[in-house]
Amino acid sequence: MKKKIAILGSTGSIGTQALEVIEKLNDKFEIIAISAGNNIDLIKKQIEKFAPKYVSVRKEDDAEKLIKEFPNINILFGDEGLNTIAKLDEIQILLVAVSGKIGLKPTIEAIKKGKDIALANKETLVMAGDIVIKLAKENNVKILPVDSEHSAIFQCINNGKDAKHLIITASGGPFRNSTKEEMEHANLDEALNHPRWNMGKKITVDSATLMNKGLEVIEAHHLFNFDYKDIKVVVHPQSYIHSAVEFVDGSIIAQIGIPSMHIPIQYALTYPDRIEGIETESFDFIKAAKFEFYEPDYEKFPSLKLAFIAGEKGGTYPVCLNAANEEAVFAFLDKKVKYLDIYKITKAIFDDYTSIKNPNIDQIIEEDEKVRIKTREFIKNM
Ligand code: NDP
Ligand code: MG
Repeated sequence: MKKKIAILGSTGSIGTQALEVIEKLNDKFEIIAISAGNNIDLIKKQIEKFAPKYVSVRKEDDAEKLIKEFPNINILFGDEGLNTIAKLDEIQILLVAVSGKIGLKPTIEAIKKGKDIALANKETLVMAGDIVIKLAKENNVKILPVDSEHSAIFQCINNGKDAKHLIITASGGPFRNSTKEEMEHANLDEALNHPRWNMGKKITVDSATLMNKGLEVIEAHHLFNFDYKDIKVVVHPQSYIHSAVEFVDGSIIAQIGIPSMHIPIQYALTYPDRIEGIETESFDFIKAAKFEFYEPDYEKFPSLKLAFIAGEKGGTYPVCLNAANEEAVFAFLDKKVKYLDIYKITKAIFDDYTSIKNPNIDQIIEEDEKVRIKTREFIKNM
């Protein structure tokens, strides 16, 4: 029987790669629903190719146009469209590949309905990891990580038995070897020029500041129930080792392979099975030749340290970190602020923030909105 799947964010970097994986395994999956933000041209092509029953887009007027063109498909729109897809009776697994905070609500809705979640959207765990993981346990739902580092750990950790440290690798991003002076003048193209991965713009900028790694540390803390002191970040420019787990006896199990998101996406979708899919080339150790490792430079990349601090403080501090950083990154993408301002803005908002202990989802969403308004105000007055 085919596994019935819905993809939120099918027009993004993860979404399109997931469709490539599924196209190759078309005897294993049936696409029930897909969703786009603004990329209507692409979703139309996806509709024609995959014939979903439900489609959601961001704006109502785009939905109205699609209804005329595809009268036999249920066309939805807005955040409610994503929630409706997440709750559909006929889906078994939801791939959450939208970017930003909009992933949170549909993930919760799907968990409540007992759907397994293939989770790319790290913001969901950064903002509400405690609630999401607890809810998943209560509903006997699997949270299958798509983020390559977390997929690697998931494949190595053996349910956490006797695991001592998580070792998260980082490519180091485009500014690994840059001086502070060069980073001072870094432009948008340089920040978007990631050496290893081709991803959406927001996460690519986060990979340049290493905030992405910081968010991944928080993500790992929730997914694998590890204290922050037991999570280590190692810079590994080749990105062949996607992450590793150290066990109490001194053994380290690492997951290795070519740097391709197809592999973690596919594993999340086919788990617990491994299937020959889109990546058929064997990893060549001889060609790879060199595996290098470095300590992260916390001075040059202070965002990583700030993320550890936010995670350890808990409460809604990670919500603040995520929201302030995201607004600062948007301002950088709009060329309103400079590269190094991203951290300065995030840190200023974070230092001035008062957290809520044990927040519920509504409080998390409220705090997120409050921080965003404050950050936008701060940027305007810079
Ligand atoms: P992209 O920016 O490439 O894609 C984001 C997707 O979300 C697109 O389909 C976009 O639609 C949709 N979207 C954005 N805003 C809205 C909105 N308001 N309403 C509805 N849909 C919306 O991001 P990525 O694919 O790179 O990343 C997605 C998530 O996965 C992020 O949380 C990221 O951190 C995580 N991730 C990504 C990795 C990667 O390799 N790319 C690796 C690990 C994690 P549209 O384009 O049509 O506007
Ligand atoms: Mg990652």
